[in-house]
Amino acid sequence: MTTPHRQLTRAMAIALLAVLLTYGGQAFAAPTTLAAQAAASCSSGSITPTVTEGPFYKAGSPQRASLLTPGISGTPVTITGYVYDKNCQPIANAWLDFWQASASGVYDNAGYTLRGHQYTDAAGRFMLQTVEPGEYPGRTEHIHVKVQAPSGPILTTQLFFPGVVHNSSDSIYDPALLMNVQTAADGSKTATFNFVLDVTTTPTAQTTPTTTASYTFPQTGFTVSGAFWTAWQSGRSFADSLYINGLPISAARNEVSPTDGKTYLTQWFERARLELHPQNVAPNNVLLGLLGTVAAQGKQNQAAFQQVSNPGGSVAWFSQTGHTVGNSSVGGQAIATAWTRLGGLAQFGYPISQPFTEVSKDDGKSYLVQYFERQRFEYHPENAGTSYAVLLGRLGAEQMTKTP
Ligand code: FE
Repeated sequence: MTTPHRQLTRAMAIALLAVLLTYGGQAFAAPTTLAAQAAASCSSGSITPTVTEGPFYKAGSPQRASLLTPGISGTPVTITGYVYDKNCQPIANAWLDFWQASASGVYDNAGYTLRGHQYTDAAGRFMLQTVEPGEYPGRTEHIHVKVQAPSGPILTTQLFFPGVVHNSSDSIYDPALLMNVQTAADGSKTATFNFVLDVTTTPTAQTTPTTTASYTFPQTGFTVSGAFWTAWQSGRSFADSLYINGLPISAARNEVSPTDGKTYLTQWFERARLELHPQNVAPNNVLLGLLGTVAAQGKQNQAAFQQVSNPGGSVAWFSQTGHTVGNSSVGGQAIATAWTRLGGLAQFGYPISQPFTEVSKDDGKSYLVQYFERQRFEYHPENAGTSYAVLLGRLGAEQMTKTP
């Protein structure tokens, strides 16, 4: 019941781009104020200073704009701002990876608590929901971040809070990295900060070179080349491909496929496994692993994995597996829309469960999810109205073993 290789059409790519461009409609309550502050705080040529990474960075954080996980304590802080180039032009699809200590000054080095990455929207905006970090020996309050324009160099820096006593005694502290912070009546805080990167963007050149034979991702250091690089891009924008496949997390290497037991050149990504089948004609010479099927192992007895009959109406149903794509609920419709716009059957395969509620391994919260042959879709109502309303599982990161 595996599906033919994907053919992402131009229409799908355009539909996805349209969705990405709508991001921000609900996320920024006061765009006029924000824009005014932003305009005031980008002066051409004043690049955001670099600050030491420190010992606690961990690659591979989950994609999320909110780090507010269940049971977390501390003062809520919402940080908004823009990522600009050195001419104060906003940068769309810039990558931001945040990490910080808890309110009591402790980093989660085992998991990903208070760690998350996101991308700026089409207007170059980001929004982070988190808690105010605590101090720890030698360090005043700070939030670490890496920022990168598509295909640009990575800026590693830290953000600081004004009025903290230990700012002046912290040798890493830089007043140029102070956020503009306001405290609401309920004690929660809102902050703004704009990053200015040492790059120049042009309105038509925001993606990585697609004509090269390979690309090395600075975030993980792995190179994707040849047929894998062609398949990773699949004619989409860089941002779309990143959303669907994620970053490379291994080199290309020979590996035994769990599907047929044969050995293929294989490369792992956060959300995909690519296998080279040189006997096939392109684009079918690179096949996508059945990561959703593997992730569903041991769950087949659950109610959601039992076949259902065709409900009719507007909900799509596949006789091949006896499951619908999404359902009539708000979350189920969001999953169906995302499945269709990101590549549908060819990209993700058939549904192998109905939508159901499951606890996320990443943050311990319950989400509406649905399993497909190659991916798990997760509905995040807190991101409704943004391009993060449906997130794809980091199944590659979960399933890759360090040695093939
Ligand atoms: Fe730190």
